[in-house]
Amino acid sequence: MAKTIAIANQKGGVGKTTTSINLSACLAEKGKKVLVIDTDPQGNTTSGFGIDKNNLENTIYDLILGECSISDCIIKNVISNISIVPSNVNLAAAEIELIGIDRKEYILKKEVDYIKEEYDFIIIDCPPSLNMLTINAMTTADSVLVPIQCEYYALEGLSQLIHTINLVKERLNPDLDMEGAVFTMYDSRTNLSMQVVENVKQNLSQKIYNTLIPRNIRLAEAPSHGMPINLYDAKSAGAEAYMQLAEEIISNI
Ligand code: ADP
Ligand code: MG
Repeated sequence: MAKTIAIANQKGGVGKTTTSINLSACLAEKGKKVLVIDTDPQGNTTSGFGIDKNNLENTIYDLILGECSISDCIIKNVISNISIVPSNVNLAAAEIELIGIDRKEYILKKEVDYIKEEYDFIIIDCPPSLNMLTINAMTTADSVLVPIQCEYYALEGLSQLIHTINLVKERLNPDLDMEGAVFTMYDSRTNLSMQVVENVKQNLSQKIYNTLIPRNIRLAEAPSHGMPINLYDAKSAGAEAYMQLAEEIISNI
């Protein structure tokens, strides 16, 4: 039975998508069967795996609207051990289409339950807001992993995010846990990164992963080649960090 992890933070640009792609790819390299679900209309996780997001038969949009089942939109083995439920800009309309629909918070969960047996991990990349798609992801998930960018405003929005996780746990998904936080874009040359890590550690009671994801240009380049970091440049600091994070995630099952 898969462990399902939603990667969420309503702030944009903190490394959700980079973490979704590369954590998934590193789990896959370690022999785990992984399903990646892209719930962001930007579709950057989809294109990050080399999939042409503008040329897809079925996407998560069709799934959310109930027009196809999850198995109709899974693209199998995009790379070894990785399958993906793709997304594109169509999904931006989903929120409106769902107005007045009953139990809309459970749409994704209901579909994922059908295929949970087939994977070791299901990784859900969330959009940069606390909208119905993020709620669907959290209702589906066993835990939420929060990437925190090492910058001055790192803590901003975190209490709102934790409040949302607690509300979902209370009302929609009693099994939901906080997987923990992971620092991204860590720059060992600056005091700021160190200070942010210390400050967050003092203010956050949740688990914080030991792995620090460094700021690494290879991580920023890889998506334009449609490859996760372990295939694009396995020796890069970014690849090493995401491999280490994958090990921590596995040992935290
Ligand atoms: P989000 O999904 O939270 O909006 P992304 O993962 O798309 O964030 O990252 C935002 C930008 O920062 C992207 O251009 C990405 O390539 C870059 N980026 C993310 N993580 C790193 C990193 N560790 N080092 C360098 N660039 C990064
Ligand atoms: Mg993203």
